Amino acid sequence: MIYLDNASTTKLRPEVLEAMQPYLTECYGNADSIHSFGKKSAEAVERARKIIADAIGAEPEEILFTSGAAEANSWVVQYASDMIHSFGFRPRIAYSAIEHSSIMNAMKQEMPDVLMKRILPADKYGYIHIDKAEVDHFDFVSLMLVNNEIGTVQKVNDIKSAFHPVLIHTDATQALGHIAVNVRQLGVDFLSSSAHKLGGPKGVGFLYVRKPFLATMKPLIYGGQQESGLRGGTTNVAGIVGFGKAVELAMDFGCGRLMEQATGQQILFRTLITKELPNVQFNSPLASSIWSVTIPEVRGEEMVAYLDQFGICISTGSACETGNENPSHVLLAIGKTPKEANSTIRISVGWDTTEDEVKEAAERIIQGVKMLR
Ligand code: PMP
Repeated sequence: MIYLDNASTTKLRPEVLEAMQPYLTECYGNADSIHSFGKKSAEAVERARKIIADAIGAEPEEILFTSGAAEANSWVVQYASDMIHSFGFRPRIAYSAIEHSSIMNAMKQEMPDVLMKRILPADKYGYIHIDKAEVDHFDFVSLMLVNNEIGTVQKVNDIKSAFHPVLIHTDATQALGHIAVNVRQLGVDFLSSSAHKLGGPKGVGFLYVRKPFLATMKPLIYGGQQESGLRGGTTNVAGIVGFGKAVELAMDFGCGRLMEQATGQQILFRTLITKELPNVQFNSPLASSIWSVTIPEVRGEEMVAYLDQFGICISTGSACETGNENPSHVLLAIGKTPKEANSTIRISVGWDTTEDEVKEAAERIIQGVKMLR
């Protein structure tokens, strides 16, 4: 199999499995038990919290573990909504037109009474530009750091300086382990991420909450004192340990190195494709591990199915949008027509993707276009 769908999820790295294994087998203590067996689990959780906090320039207590990034995104929107409404205001919010559905849908549900809502448009590469004349003050701004369909790295800090939001959040799900992520440099109050996008297990993520806001957070799940009393339920010890290990490995490998490798592979891919298929459009920046490619007159879904016969896994876009008949909102936002959006595929490489795999995928795509057109 050639796996080129790393933006959907990644393979569990063997070292991560090895780190998790004891907490699934002999060290199965509940992290909240006060016996030493339980304390061993609690210590492992706190070690992982520290690794993750260090990796993003945060304090360990600012990391709240969740079941993933969709949960973290929903939580931060609920928090922002509660806070703004508690002051008796109607929310003034801004987010980009290329956010993940977990942000967009949470905004719609939690803040139906907005006083002002700005959906920031993106250019053809997914960058958001702020028209200085249009600058307003917002209560809550949420911007994705690396886009999950086209790989654009957003300049979150520039947008913050323009808007001076009271609260700013970034969805860094596709960023952590791929590019340098530092909450102080980004200037964000909240950040979400997820383990399964960087070789960690599924079902574990976190919400970073800047310290001053922790005191006003209300529990997402009522229960015990887990996650500073803000998210009840028995701690997912093995998952959190795996997340810590995945972050540690990504830091050791180096985000720069991963991006360099992905960029080289994308250049190779583009060269092979354009030689045979001159009218193909590449929608992603060059420095990206996510490559969005529009192939006119070939439906994305048909290309995915064609490649699947040869054991090559790619996608048409976000797995979270599977079952949604409409063309991708991200592709429409960057100026694609609905027809072009439906003729777009997403290839996403990982740390273990090889040049040979990229070459084979390019060759099969070229053959596929000839078959499917
Ligand atoms: N945000 C982005 C940008 C994503 O790519 C994803 C996963 N597709 C999510 C949020 C949701 O992450 P999780 O699967 O951990 O809930």
